[in-house]
Amino acid sequence: MPKNSKGRNVAEIMPDKCIGCQLCVGECPVAAIHMEDAVAKINPEICIGCGRCFNVCPVDAVIFEKKKKKQLTGVGQTPRHLDDYRGVAIFIEVQNGIASQVSWELVGKGRELAEKLDAKVHGFLLGHNVQSVAKEAITYGCDTVYMVDHQLLEHYSPRAYGKALVQLCEQVKPEVFLLGATPLGRDLSGVVATQLEAGLTADCTGLDIDSQDRLLLMTRPTFGGNIMATIVCRNHRPQMSTVRPGVMKMLQKDEARRGEIIIHDFTITESELPVQIDFIPTPTDVSAVDISRAPVLVVVGKGACDARYLDMMEELAQILGGTIACSRPVVQIGLLPYMRQVGQTGKTVSPKIYVGIGVSGAVQHLVGMQTSEKVIAINIDPHAPLMQMADYAIVGNYQKVVPMIIKGIRERSKDTRVKKGSRERKI
Ligand code: FAD
Repeated sequence: MPKNSKGRNVAEIMPDKCIGCQLCVGECPVAAIHMEDAVAKINPEICIGCGRCFNVCPVDAVIFEKKKKKQLTGVGQTPRHLDDYRGVAIFIEVQNGIASQVSWELVGKGRELAEKLDAKVHGFLLGHNVQSVAKEAITYGCDTVYMVDHQLLEHYSPRAYGKALVQLCEQVKPEVFLLGATPLGRDLSGVVATQLEAGLTADCTGLDIDSQDRLLLMTRPTFGGNIMATIVCRNHRPQMSTVRPGVMKMLQKDEARRGEIIIHDFTITESELPVQIDFIPTPTDVSAVDISRAPVLVVVGKGACDARYLDMMEELAQILGGTIACSRPVVQIGLLPYMRQVGQTGKTVSPKIYVGIGVSGAVQHLVGMQTSEKVIAINIDPHAPLMQMADYAIVGNYQKVVPMIIKGIRERSKDTRVKKGSRERKI
């Protein structure tokens, strides 16, 4: 194949075959072809070797050798050396000696994935004096807990935690590794995935297994939440993903479950850690509401975003035994803080009762609440997407509907009495 002075493969035209149709002239993206005596001629120093002239020529007058496509490893099949990796590992996140609930939710999901893979569920536990959490992990569904108990792991540090988890992954070789998409989990997962060169799918809302290829199917919203993408990682292990709190359902605790706790040695010196000037303890005041844990949410949307009616919304939430949350425009307007926002860029919630008031149900909102058990929507527009997916859709102005609901509940609770033995009890 002809080359130019830079050694690049270029195309060449056979003048005796060329019919002067000029199709190649129009096709060339870099204007490397011109006509000379009704025959096309290529300037090899301009040609970039794209082969478009070759493709378009009707009389095969262009000499060009197509580049062989690079063989992509593993397309359609998972590389053999990955067969060494087995099991589903869950990072058990501990803060102040208490495991975060998302860890147990992931153990629950991990069991489901492990059954499809015919594999075990491993808990990766880091911290100091965390033996009780290791036992708890077994009651929630772990078969084995790999524990690294070290003084320097008492508080989170990306370097120390990253080193310990990388060591565990290299020794245990899990084929799937899940972490909670908490502030800590988001930070740590990036550190570990980078060191293991494993890749990472963040903020997944769905996980499943392709049993034939033992691939983790990691689904997450993309393009501003307008489509759901399912991502696979064929060529690297472990297949890593973070999942937001509240998305997966946790299993019932089973005190009778038995499992194994394996203690791992870990050496790290103070000099390997960044210099710590002071440690700012996590505030013990946890009065800040966590909407992802509330059993009932009264969600204020843009259609009900009026400060004069906020007390009314609070009252409804309170008599239902819940708290208030909101859609993104309500945060943007400044009526409620960001920590109350439900949705793709807010929190994922899964309450027993979700009451959406003046919420249209945009896809970015729905991805954050679709696992709610019962959905009640109040909207003047019966065609709003949330009204379509609601279990109970109330068409009307919230300013009239909400006071009626509050009045109705109050009257019912006044009248309803349950007799228990000789004593009466209000419900
Ligand atoms: P609207 O869509 O304006 O709906 C208001 C509703 O109120 C309407 O259905 C209307 O019929 C009804 N209404 C009006 N008056 C009354 C009345 N008097 N009584 C009863 N009903 C009434 N949004 C989120 O919520 N969370 C997110 O995390 C989030 N992340 C996003 C991320 C990206 C990248 C993008 C692009 C957008 C995101 N959004 C998010 C915004 C989202 O696209 C929508 O704009 C938003 O959810 C709409 O909020 P809404 O339903 O309150 O308002």
